[in-house]
Amino acid sequence: MAKAHIKELFFRDSALHLPWLGNRKLEISERAMRVLITILTGLFLLVLAAALLSQLWLSRAQNLNEESRLTLVQAERTAQNIKLNYYENGLNFILDQKLLDRAVPADATAHSRFFVLLDGKGSVVASVPPHIEWQNRSIASLMGSNFVTDAVVNGNEMAPTTLATGEDAFMASRDLGKVPGSLVAFQKKDDVLAIWRSGVTKLTSLFTVTFLVLVLLAGAFHWQAGKAFDADEMLSHATGRLDMALDGGECGLWDWHLQANKIFWSMSMYSILGLKPKGDFLSFREVAARLHPEDQRIDELIDQLLKGEREEFDQEFRMRHHNGHYVWLRARAALASGRENAEPHLVGIVFDISRQKNLDKLNSEAELRLKDAVENISEAFVLWDTESKLVLCNSKYQQFHSLPASVCQPGTPYSLVAGASKEPMVQQFVAGERDLNSGARSMEVQLADGRWLQINERRTKDGGFVSVGTDITALKRQEEHLLESERNLMTTVRDLKRQRQLAEEQSQVLAELADNYAKEKTRAESANRSKSEFLANMSHELRTPLNAIIGFSEIMAQQMFGPMGSAKYSEYASDIRKSGQFLLDVINDILDMSKIEAGKVDLELSNVELSIVLDEVLRLVGPRAAESKILISRDFADVPEFKADRRALKQVFINIMSNAIKFTSEGGAIEIKTRFDGDIVRIQMIDNGIGIPMRDIEKLGRPFEQVENQFTKSRGGSGLGLAISKSLVDLHGGKLLITSKVGKGTTVTVDLPFRPAVDVKAA
Ligand code: ADP
Repeated sequence: MAKAHIKELFFRDSALHLPWLGNRKLEISERAMRVLITILTGLFLLVLAAALLSQLWLSRAQNLNEESRLTLVQAERTAQNIKLNYYENGLNFILDQKLLDRAVPADATAHSRFFVLLDGKGSVVASVPPHIEWQNRSIASLMGSNFVTDAVVNGNEMAPTTLATGEDAFMASRDLGKVPGSLVAFQKKDDVLAIWRSGVTKLTSLFTVTFLVLVLLAGAFHWQAGKAFDADEMLSHATGRLDMALDGGECGLWDWHLQANKIFWSMSMYSILGLKPKGDFLSFREVAARLHPEDQRIDELIDQLLKGEREEFDQEFRMRHHNGHYVWLRARAALASGRENAEPHLVGIVFDISRQKNLDKLNSEAELRLKDAVENISEAFVLWDTESKLVLCNSKYQQFHSLPASVCQPGTPYSLVAGASKEPMVQQFVAGERDLNSGARSMEVQLADGRWLQINERRTKDGGFVSVGTDITALKRQEEHLLESERNLMTTVRDLKRQRQLAEEQSQVLAELADNYAKEKTRAESANRSKSEFLANMSHELRTPLNAIIGFSEIMAQQMFGPMGSAKYSEYASDIRKSGQFLLDVINDILDMSKIEAGKVDLELSNVELSIVLDEVLRLVGPRAAESKILISRDFADVPEFKADRRALKQVFINIMSNAIKFTSEGGAIEIKTRFDGDIVRIQMIDNGIGIPMRDIEKLGRPFEQVENQFTKSRGGSGLGLAISKSLVDLHGGKLLITSKVGKGTTVTVDLPFRPAVDVKAA
């Protein structure tokens, strides 16, 4: 077929037939038709039966009328014949059988008609057909009790009667004019109706045959229609199933009559294209308008098919969906083989392959992404399929094996790739264990350039093989560092162990020492305690005789009981008193210290006016200062009365002032300062005496610590003064602080917490 012809074929308005649409209508009209035909047949038969019955009834009446009329005529003719005979014969006239035989016309006895001639008395004279036994018998007696005698003589109608036999009959009576007598003609009803009956039988037979034929025809129609209906239903089910299957399978059927230019389309084609099924036919112009302009023209393909250049039609093309997008379709068709000269037509199937096309697109995108990802990883990657053919490798793999690009194509067999590859110069090879289940293997190789690679090989689920080579040079270096560090660590650990052992030994020694120390401490404490007790006892025991010595020596020095003779004695007595006093002072100090250390000193708090206490102290130490020509100056602040142990404070200040005087050279100066800041009462005694070396200051305050130098030695002392003072200040919750510079002087600061005085008057 020429191309031009095909085009003409396509673009002439063609139509697409849709056999699927008519089924329902057909089914409904067929059912109505069946009912209508049944009703019409029934009606026809009813009408026919009614017509037949009325016809029969009519013919019956007509028959009866006809026969009655004939009987009336025959009776009239016979009566006229008798009357004529009477007039002809005159006196010879005899009412007898012969007369009647002659008078009754030849055809009058047809249809069992019979005539009876009666005389003037009503007795039977003759009868035709002749009945001898009726002769001379009264007609009434002959006809029986039912015989009707009131029949109108010469009436125009036959009168119904009943014969002696009980049969229904008609009768007509005729007078004979001047002849005495009458003529009665009878006709049996049954005989009259016999003719009618034969007609009835014929008609009934005809009707029955017609009825049967019609019923048969109607039945046949019903059966045929039922079969057709069943077939229709089966067809519609099959069509439904086919449509469903086509819809589900996203494919459609088509049958293209090329000559008639008609295309039969399945419903699913409409749903594939999102169209509403419309009418029975669809113009090809519409179909052509939906084809994608870039796809190969279908008319060219069909042309090739018709020319025999192609064996079958299998084409992918796009058609525009109702929503505007294009649907990918794949059509397969073949020229239907039929009669030789039959019109060519193409029968085929169309698949909606949009989803597959989309998947293909997604697959190729995913493949591209995968290739890109594999290319961009830092490892050398290669994947082999089950037949050991190359699926995918990246450029790092290619570089690693120095492969030419031509063998890196997918599908290249392993042997070819292995043949083309230049194996790296492996310096070291550390093979890992192969996992028998997964076929996985891991190995480490060191290349000639010193780089390290870890190669992991693994079987894929589909039986293929994947190999990844990772550059682990940095890791290896780190590993070496780690090993080195570990070695160092081990050495350190060994050293540490040794040191720990040493420490343990030392700690054991220390423990022993601590033990000894504890023992010593306990012993020292108990010794200290016994010392304190001893001192307390001793002081007490010493003070009594000392008081006697001092008292008596004073009496002797003052020569209270008369002169001692030599001046030397009074001098010695004075020395004895001084030494006794000194000894007593020392003993008092020792006793005080012992009491403090034994914790036996309790403060007796009372309201103290600081300036008064200091005045008292100055009164006591003043003479000694004056002796050494030491100037004592005061700088007293306004300190309110506060609570403290008056006696203890006095003792503290005397001690400090005594030291200041004691360790200040002649002509020196001492300043007494008091300050109050609301919380603390501060008393400072500042001298410009010999001072105390720095290293000795911290020893002060501890009992029996004396700073040793020539000067102090010359001044003597128990070394307890500052210790007692510090302890007493501590007991007050205060602080005693010594600052000094050798040759410049010493400052002793006493800080006492301010405890407000209790109002004695108020109390
Ligand atoms: P002592 O009763 O022996 O004087 P102290 O406890 O009072 O004992 O003094 C201890 C020592 O501190 C003294 O022997 C002295 O060496 C030194 N010392 C105390 N006060 C002064 C001071 N104002 N100047 C120089 N040295 C002092």
